[in-house]
Amino acid sequence: MDIVLDLSDEHFFTPYVYPTFLSPQNLFRQLCSLSVIVILGGYALYFLTAALNYYLVFDHRLKLHPLYHKNQVKLEIACCLRSIPLMSFMSVIMFLAEVRGYSFLFDSFEETKFGRWSMVIYSVSFILFTDSLIYWIHRGLHSKYLYKRLHKTHHKWKIPTPFASHAFNPVDGFVQSLPYHIYVFLFPMHKWTYLGLFVFVNVWTVSIHDGNYRVPNFFKPIVNGSAHHMDHHIYYNYNYGQFFTLWDRIGRSYRTPSAFDGTGPIQQVERAEADRKRRQDQPEVPAPMLGNKKPGAGKWEESFTHVASVSGKKID
Ligand SMILES: [Zn+2]
Ligand SMILES: [Zn+2]
Repeated sequence: MDIVLDLSDEHFFTPYVYPTFLSPQNLFRQLCSLSVIVILGGYALYFLTAALNYYLVFDHRLKLHPLYHKNQVKLEIACCLRSIPLMSFMSVIMFLAEVRGYSFLFDSFEETKFGRWSMVIYSVSFILFTDSLIYWIHRGLHSKYLYKRLHKTHHKWKIPTPFASHAFNPVDGFVQSLPYHIYVFLFPMHKWTYLGLFVFVNVWTVSIHDGNYRVPNFFKPIVNGSAHHMDHHIYYNYNYGQFFTLWDRIGRSYRTPSAFDGTGPIQQVERAEADRKRRQDQPEVPAPMLGNKKPGAGKWEESFTHVASVSGKKID
C-alpha cells in the first residue's frame, strides 16, 4: 500500500491537502490519507468490477428465479455502501502497520534469492495460505452464534449478483479479508505483486457471485467457482472455499454444484420458462375440468419447490 500512498502524496496530498509542517511520515497524516485511499479505492474497485461483471458476464435469467428478491441489486449496493467505510477503516489499521515497516514486503526482486520467480512462488503460497484460512474462518462464521450476528447479512442473497460480492456485515467482511493482510506479516512478498494480488482477490470475489458456470471441465472439480458459491448461498453448509475445493473436500463440506448435474438455479429457470411457454401454446381446457385453477396455475412455483424448501425460503 505504500506504493499507492507515495503516489497519492506526491500528486495530491502534499501539493493540495496537507500543511507543510505535516511530513509524509506523520502517523496521523498516514492514517487520514490511507482512510481516504482505501475507502475511495474500495468503492471504485467494487463498482467497476461488479458493474462490468453484471453487464457483461452475469446471467440475467437468474433474476426470474423466485429466490431472487425484488429490487435486489439496489439492496445489495445499499448494503455495500454502508459496509465499505467501516470495513475499509479496519483494513487501514493493517495497511498502516504495513507502510510503517512492520511487514515483510520488499521493493525489488534482487532482494530475494528466487529473483523474478519469487513473483510466482509468493503468489502461489499467498493463494494457498489465504484459501486455507478463509475456509476455516468462513466455516466458523456459520456457527450458530456468529452466523446470526455477523454472517447472515451476506446470506440474505440466495441468488446473488456480482453486487452482493461485498455486501457483508463490516466485521464479517473484515474478518474474511484478514488472511490477505496477515500474510505479509508472516512471509516475504514483493510490493507490486501484493498490490496486484489485492486487485485479483477483489475481482475473484466478484466473479464467484456472477452465476456464470462456464468453467473448463478440467477445473470443475478443483476450482471453487460461481457454481460452488451459488450453492453455498442456497444450501448454506457446503462449499465454504474461496479459490479451491481442497479444504471443502478435507473438511467434508464439498458438494458437487447443482449446476453441474442440471439442477442449478439457471436450469430451474430454463425449465420453468419452457413449461410456461408450452402451457401458453396449449389450447385452452374448458373451465369445469380445472376446478378453481386456471390452466398451469402454480406450476412455475412448483418447479422451485425443492430449492425453496432446502434453503428455507417461503415462496410468495
Ligand atoms: Zn457463508
Ligand atoms: Zn457470497
